[in-house]
Amino acid sequence: MKKLLLLVTAFLFLTPLAHAAEDTKVVATIKPLHSLVQAVMGDTGTAGLLVDGNASPHGFALKPSQIRMTQNADILFLIDLHFEQFMENVLASAPSVAAVSVVDEGNLTLLELREGGAWEDHGDHDHGHGDKDHKEHSDHKGHSDHSDHADHDEVDLHVWLNTANARDMVQTITKALGSQYPENRSVYKANARALIIKLEALETENQQKLSPYKDKAFIVLHDAYPYFEAENGLTAVGSITIEPDDPPSINRLKEIRQKITETNTVCVFREPQFDDRLVQTAIEGSDARQGTLDPIGANFEPGPDLYLKLMTSLADNFVDCMSQ
Ligand SMILES: [Zn+2]
Repeated sequence: MKKLLLLVTAFLFLTPLAHAAEDTKVVATIKPLHSLVQAVMGDTGTAGLLVDGNASPHGFALKPSQIRMTQNADILFLIDLHFEQFMENVLASAPSVAAVSVVDEGNLTLLELREGGAWEDHGDHDHGHGDKDHKEHSDHKGHSDHSDHADHDEVDLHVWLNTANARDMVQTITKALGSQYPENRSVYKANARALIIKLEALETENQQKLSPYKDKAFIVLHDAYPYFEAENGLTAVGSITIEPDDPPSINRLKEIRQKITETNTVCVFREPQFDDRLVQTAIEGSDARQGTLDPIGANFEPGPDLYLKLMTSLADNFVDCMSQ
C-alpha cells in the first residue's frame, strides 16, 4: 500500500512536467522570430519562447526550465549563434535538437556593422553583434548570398527588423518545420502564404508612413535598426552605446551631444527595457526630443501577430516623435 501511494504521488508530481515538455517540441529564441514560427505553425501546435517578457537577448541567460524545454525540443529556431550566445552551451548538451539558424539556412540580406565616427567602436564587446566567425558559418552552407559577405568579419545580426528578411525567415521556418513534421506540411505552406501577403502589405505601409522623414536626423540607443532603416530609406546619424546595458563613457556622451547639435537631430530614441537616463543626458539642453523604439517587442504578448505589431509600432513610434 505504501508503495502504491508513493507511486501515485510520484506520478502526480511528474505528470505536469512531463506534459509541458511533451507539448513544446518547437522552440524559438526571441519574440519576433517566435511570432513568425507560431504564425507558420498555426493550430498545429504551440511554440515555446526563450527570451520572454521584456528581457533583452543581450546578456541573456537561460533558466533551468528553459534549458529543459530546449533539450526536450525537436527543433529550435534562432537568429544565429553569434547573436544568441546564451544558446551555445545548451545546444552542445542537446545533440538531438535540430537547431535552425535563419541566418545560416536562409538567404537574408546581411549588412555590416557600422563603426567609427558616431558609431561606437565594437572592440571586445562581442555580445552577439560581432560575428568574427561568420565566414566559416556561411561557407559550409554554400549560399551564394552569404559569400558576398564572407570577407567581412562583422555582420549586424538584427536581421529581423526588415520585412523582406522576415519573408525569407518564413520560408526557412516553413521548410524546416515541414521536414520535421511532414504530416503538417500543407498547413504550414498555407499559413506561410497568408503571412507573406501580410508582410508585403506591412512593408508598403511602413514605407509610406516613413517617406517624409528620409532627410531627418535621429539617434538610437543601440545600433539595432540598420535593416529597418535600409528598408525605409532612413539613416540614423549615430547610436549612444553598442550594448544597451553597457554604459558609454563621458567622452562618448560629449560626442553624441555634439552630434545632436551638428546634425540637427530631431529625436533620440530610448528602448523600453532600459533606463532613459542616458537618452535624457544626451538631449539635455538641446532641441532634440526623446522617443521610444522597441526592437524586440518587449511590451507585446508573444504570439502569431507580435511581429506585425512590432514592425507597425516601430514605424508609428518613429513618426510620433519625428513629426512633433
Ligand atoms: Zn541589439
